Amino acid sequence: MTTPKVKRGFGRRKVCRFCADKSLVIDYKDPKTLRFFTTERGKIIPRRISGNCAKHQRALTQAIKRARQLALMPYTTMVL
Ligand SMILES: [Zn+2]
Repeated sequence: MTTPKVKRGFGRRKVCRFCADKSLVIDYKDPKTLRFFTTERGKIIPRRISGNCAKHQRALTQAIKRARQLALMPYTTMVL
């Protein structure tokens, strides 16, 4: 039995926020939540860093893209 990466030492596993918190809903009409998963420049934070599962990361990406189309989220934020 070989395990390429051993997860230990931290005690808390990085888990998808949407799986962990059932009250947290991915909604394109809710930019406050979506903004947690974008950088300050408006880029979507990759799954490796956000810790989201594939299912929720995908839903999140779609929601952010939709929110952008509706101008609820910026494509890029101007850095002043
Ligand atoms: Zn999830």
